Formats: sequence, C-alpha cells, structure tokens
Amino acid sequence: MYRTHTCGQLRLSDAGQTVTLAGWVQKIRNLGAMTFIDLRDRYGITQIVVEEHSTDDIKAIARELGREYVIQVTGNVVERSSKNPKMPTGDIEVAASALKVLNAAETPPFTIEDNSDGGDELRMKYRYLDLRRGPLQRAMMLRHEMAQRIREYLDKQGFLEIETPYMIGSTPEGARDFVVPSRMNPGEFYALPQSPQTFKQLLMVAGYDRYFQIVRCFRDEDLRADRQPEFTQIDCEMSFVERDDILTTFEGLAKHLFKTTIGVEIEDQLRRMPWAEAMAKYGSDKPDLRFGMEICELTAEAQGKGFVVFDSAEYVGAIAATGCASYTRKQIDELTEWVKRPQIGAKGLVWVRFEEDGNVKSSIDKFFNPEELKAWGEKCGAKPGDMMFIMAGGRKQSLNALGELRLEMGERLGLRDRSKFAPLWVVDFPLLEWDDESGRFFAMHHPFTSPMKEDEALLETDPGKVRANAYDFVVNGVEVGGGSIRIFDSKLQAKMFDLLGFTPEEAQKQFGFLMNAFKFGAPPHGGIAFGFDRWCSLFGGADSIRDYIAFPKNNSGRDMMIDAPSVISEAQLKELNLKIEIEKDK
Ligand code: ASP
Repeated sequence: MYRTHTCGQLRLSDAGQTVTLAGWVQKIRNLGAMTFIDLRDRYGITQIVVEEHSTDDIKAIARELGREYVIQVTGNVVERSSKNPKMPTGDIEVAASALKVLNAAETPPFTIEDNSDGGDELRMKYRYLDLRRGPLQRAMMLRHEMAQRIREYLDKQGFLEIETPYMIGSTPEGARDFVVPSRMNPGEFYALPQSPQTFKQLLMVAGYDRYFQIVRCFRDEDLRADRQPEFTQIDCEMSFVERDDILTTFEGLAKHLFKTTIGVEIEDQLRRMPWAEAMAKYGSDKPDLRFGMEICELTAEAQGKGFVVFDSAEYVGAIAATGCASYTRKQIDELTEWVKRPQIGAKGLVWVRFEEDGNVKSSIDKFFNPEELKAWGEKCGAKPGDMMFIMAGGRKQSLNALGELRLEMGERLGLRDRSKFAPLWVVDFPLLEWDDESGRFFAMHHPFTSPMKEDEALLETDPGKVRANAYDFVVNGVEVGGGSIRIFDSKLQAKMFDLLGFTPEEAQKQFGFLMNAFKFGAPPHGGIAFGFDRWCSLFGGADSIRDYIAFPKNNSGRDMMIDAPSVISEAQLKELNLKIEIEKDK
C-alpha cells in the first residue's frame, strides 16, 4: 500500500499512530536543524517534519527535495506545538521516520498555489499542473458532485440515461457545425451534434418517455470568455407533458441541486416572467433579479417639450440608480463614455439628480421643469439621493442599453452578490425572429419549438407575433437552461420549415427522418437542456466556465496543452480523399 491516509485526513485524534502518506511537495522550509515539508494531494495538505535527530539518510533525502516532487513518508502523527487553525490538519504533523522520493520533478513553470503567478496561456499549456491547484480541484469536485446529484434526482423521477451519437449529419440551422470526414464514404462528412435535439425527440417517438443525458455538444462559434467549442448539457425530454409539467419537474431538479450541492433552500415556486415583461423591465431575456432598479418607460412623458433627442426617439426610458445623486461630473462623463462603447451602443446619457434636500437638477433643465422631472422620478421610483439615467432611441436598442447600464450600476453598487441566487423562468418567448439582413425569419429557440396553442392562427397572418411554448431557466442574469414543448405533428412541422424559408425538398432532405417519424405515432412531448458547465461556474461563484472544464480550449479554440487542432499527414488526407487549399489571406 502506498499510503494509509490522505493528506487531508489526519486530526489530533490520530496522534500516536504510525501512518504513511504520499503526495506532492507543496513547500519546503529548512530551519537548519529541522525541515518542514507541506505534503499535498487533492484532499489537503499535511505538514511533515524531519527532525534534528532523524537519520542522516532521511536528512539527505529531505535536502534534495524540490517543489512538486512526489514522495512517500512514513512517520508518527504528533501534536504540533504551534497549531495552524486555518488548516483542517493544522493540529498535527507527521514526524518522518522514512522518506522516499517516488519521482523527482522539474521546477514547475508557475506556482501551484490558490493564487498562481502563471498567466492564462501558460496554465492552459500545463493544464495538468494547473489542475493541481486548489481552486481547480474544488471546481472539479463541485462538478462531480453536481453530476451525481443530477443523476440521483432524475433517476428517482424515472428518467432513463440514454446516449445518442456524436457523429451525425450536418444541419444548417443554428450555429456552425464541426465536421468529420468519412473515410468509408468518400466526399461525405459527419457533423458533431450541436445538441442531441432530434435524437431525443426520436426517443420520444420510440416510447422512452423520460430521457436524460449529461452530454457533450459542439458548436463552431466565435468564442467568448463564457463559451467553449465543446461544452456539456444536461439534456432532457419528456412525453405526455404540458409546459407546467416540465417546469415543475425541472424546478424540482434545480431546487435539489441548490440544496444538495450548495446548501441553498428555495421554498417558493419560481417566478414565471413573460419574455415581454423581462425585456421591458430589465432590457434582457435573462434578467438578474438579485436587485431592483427596473427600467421605466418615459416615452409619453418625455415627448412634446421641444427636446429633439426625445421627440425623435421611438422610445425613452430610465433607471433610477440608488444613492448616485452624489455622482460628480467626472463620474457621469465616464459613465456616458461607457454607454457609448460599441457593445452598448447608446448615443448618450441624460441625467436627473434627486438631491437629498428635495431639489432636482438635470442635464435637460432647459426643456423640463422640476415638477415634470419629479413626476418622472415618482414613476420610476427615484428617491432623494438617487440619480436617474435616461436613454432614448430605437426601442430594442435603448432597452438593451438600459439593461446593460442597469447591470453595470448593480455591479458598481455591489448589488450582484455572488452568494445570493435569484432563479426564475422566463416564458412566452416569440417563436420567430425577423432578420433584416437575410430577409427571413429565424427560429428564436429552434425549428422544433411549438407555437402557443392560442397563437397558432397567427402563423398564417402575423408570424412575428406568435409566441412560442418555450421557457428559459435564468439565474442571476445567466441563462442556465432552455427548452420548449415540441411540434409533434408533421404538418405543423412542415409549416414551420416553410416559415423559416426551407423549400419542402430542403426540409425533407435535412429533417425528413424526423417528420417521417412523426407519421408513426409521435406522442406530445417537450424538454429542456441546461448548460452544465455554466451551472457549475454559477454555483462555484466564477465568471468563466473554463475552470469547470478539466481540459478547455482557449479563445481561438486551441487546446494549448496538446496543441490541437493540428495539420494531418499527406497519407491521412489521401486516405480521407481530401485536398487542402487555404485561401491566401488565411
Ligand atoms: N436542444 C436545445 C438547446 O440546446 C434545448 C432544448 O430545446 O431542449 O438549446
């Protein structure tokens, strides 16, 4: 046996025992007569002491140790004279009576500590060293814990875990596909699934009425900090259900996860907010409800007083920033620059200051008297000491910018507390989204999402107005999951493809397998998928999903450690019947 205990296990009650530990050298302190070694494994750190009266052999080995050496130590557990209350093992140390180097280590390229000195790229390149660090180990353990709790809950609810293929056919709808050439079928390609969507629906047709899978999905999109080309979903589908059944079942999953992995009890039924309300009050389809500061429309009040910025706008709206009346000119200018950044895209920022003494000052005093501005403040819930920020322009763009400003102010005012959670459902999304550039509708969720029953007639007359029987699970401004009740009638599905600009032939070619399956007795069904990596990072209190994926890719989609993607040999290309031609500017 290499070890009798882990490095996180020993306590004062173990004093007097002889134990053997194995692990990595975190730190060595040579105090002349005595040497202290911090020995680490994923369970913790235990202090080892090589004493003055140790054998020369042990002392010699201790002298040659370096960081990250893998060693084995046998010794007596003794009570420490100076205890470390910050460490679970801080009451004891192990007095080495035998010491063995199992493997020497080169000096690591960065410190293996909670706050490493290594930059992102370097740590990605040596990911196996990065993974030795506490924060990543805790992230991996949280991920494991969540996966166990998910399986526990869904199994109890009668869900079957069924795997679906990773090599499927390419579909143009949605994001870009990653493709894999087929050697046995020259000139043909598989695509990696963006999600198991069609397969889980086929499983419903096949009668497996409760399916789930913790599954990898692949999307060839431009990457941002919170995106990865391969990521994991908790993918679920149910038959003979309506929207409420799905929401109840997965609200149960969410509450179970909150409780069992981070100890947060959620008693009440989650709020179900219509999409239109989310957009109007929060300028976002994923509102952060940890704080108020809701957007308030002032179009009617603001127009007709000769201020052309407002008069020419489709929409005027505001937020009342709590306690910001004391903002200086400089702070306002800085915030104005912030909202003008291309990502936010506002043209400017109008401010109204509600001073503690009841006075009102603003950047639009020329056009509006204090009484008018006070009435706006009342409508928007501004109190003495608050500052109202107003934006005007196109409705969609202004709401979006106000939503971003709301989040930014929430951040600056410390209202986005990571230990607080505000989950909700957003429902009643539009079914279709018009795209000016291509002059056609796109499915807001995906083409298999059913319209709300009461809106079905609008499909013929005003498709843009049709609401989808779809829902998102949102926590703290993050879309953690989304799904819909599906179309299960082949005629309605064909109608949907028609609206999305597919010819019947194209629809048949790409989704014929699904529409044909619907002709053989498809049950009503619906489902949802949660972003597993994202949910982990949310519970772990991190911004990026990267730390919750053992071997992630960088922002250019590269695995820095194994240096992939990479070129393949001529022989491999030949075997695959492929010729490579790279455009000059690439
Ligand atoms: N497959 C969908 C997605 O990945 C989720 C769902 O509708 O179940 O967004």
